[in-house]
Amino acid sequence: MTLLRTLIAALLLALLPAAALAEARPFAIAGQEVATGTRADFRITVPAGNDGETFIPVTVIHGARPGKVLAVVAGVHGFEFASILAAERLAERIDPARLSGTLVLVRIANIPGFEGRSPNVNPVDRKNLNRVFPGKADGTQTERIADLIAREVVARSDFLMDVHSGDGAEFLDAFVGVYGGPLATDFPLALTVAQGFGFPNIVRYSMETQAQIDSGRSLNRQGVAMGKPTILVEIGQNGSREEAHVAAIVAGVENALAILGMSDAPVREGSAPPRLFNGTVSVSASHTGIYHPANPVPRPLTKGEMIGTIRDYTGREVERLFSPVDGYALYGITGPPVEAGDGIVTIALPVPAF
Ligand SMILES: [Zn+2]
Repeated sequence: MTLLRTLIAALLLALLPAAALAEARPFAIAGQEVATGTRADFRITVPAGNDGETFIPVTVIHGARPGKVLAVVAGVHGFEFASILAAERLAERIDPARLSGTLVLVRIANIPGFEGRSPNVNPVDRKNLNRVFPGKADGTQTERIADLIAREVVARSDFLMDVHSGDGAEFLDAFVGVYGGPLATDFPLALTVAQGFGFPNIVRYSMETQAQIDSGRSLNRQGVAMGKPTILVEIGQNGSREEAHVAAIVAGVENALAILGMSDAPVREGSAPPRLFNGTVSVSASHTGIYHPANPVPRPLTKGEMIGTIRDYTGREVERLFSPVDGYALYGITGPPVEAGDGIVTIALPVPAF
């Protein structure tokens, strides 16, 4: 009997797919090991360099069954609260016993920005985390954060989701950006996941050249550089923290788990078809001063339409800004502060289909 049992056990082991055996191993990340079917909450320490030490709070939910690794990054901009609250809620809702694969949740990528209530930049070195990838291990604090997120999170993922909102003094219509083009990986899968959010706008970003990926590299572009299918999720505006936005992110990520085969839940179909855009055009300010937008809300724009004016601190008008194209004002600043070089409005370019 014992021999028979041993033989049966050996036979079953031989029949197990390789992936299942591999998945029985703990998930290794940042010196931590998360056992199969369990979760772990921990901090990735960002060691001190020329400036101070900080940390990245991470939750890993390592499913009981084999599957993909989905990385969801919140709080790259620490004043964009919907993503941060959604990550917190997802960490509570996702049950490792019912998950296939691994969910890596970066709860707040930019802790100094969050604790410092700082839109756009990390207040310690005044850098925008979403422009410094792949980062530098011996760089300033923001660059060290980027380096760790690239190596410990993006590199270990099969799919990368970066979740944002309209920042402080920024209007925005909910959209999902999908990375496609010759240098991106698996645009069709990324598009399916993007559609699963049910947001009103989808923008395709076509990655054509290495220079485009490298200049002011964002987290999504780091995903592209590492061969990961990737999307940008954006909802909420003006530093808001609305429950509907948090719930929409949570529902979208849970639908992504279903689409990626990581949960048993049925895939939820979107309701209204979204507006589709291929790329965007940005209008930038040439002067620093006080910005007076004509109508700082998401809306269609026609070529030549005035977007707003900039006055200096004596009240003298120094600049008028016009739309260079027909398109849709997807997001932009509401002012009043504006600095020369700031993006005033990002205009998405409509297409009938991808
Ligand atoms: Zn952002």
